[in-house]
Amino acid sequence: MSEICPICGLPKDLCVCESIAKEQQRIKVKVEKRKWGREVTIIEGISDKDIDLYEVAATLKSKLACGGTAKNGRIELQGDHRTRIKELLVALGFPSENIDVE
Ligand SMILES: [Zn+2]
Repeated sequence: MSEICPICGLPKDLCVCESIAKEQQRIKVKVEKRKWGREVTIIEGISDKDIDLYEVAATLKSKLACGGTAKNGRIELQGDHRTRIKELLVALGFPSENIDVE
């Protein structure tokens, strides 16, 4: 039994709502310095209403082998991942022209 999408009513494996939503996101990536010079990569602009932010964060964390959190519509990853973050987000279905890396 597959789960039914609440938006389009199709089984989740046929549903494209999330892919459509991903194409509409405008993503901003930046790096912030925290205490003791620790760097954190911040990903903002992904709507957690349409997209499973926790799943995106979990994929990024495993690909980058780093820690991180997803909350309030933003993902925080430990370390500076600006060099690889764009290709990873593109691989997840976000359009490269909508991703702004500072
Ligand atoms: Zn759907």
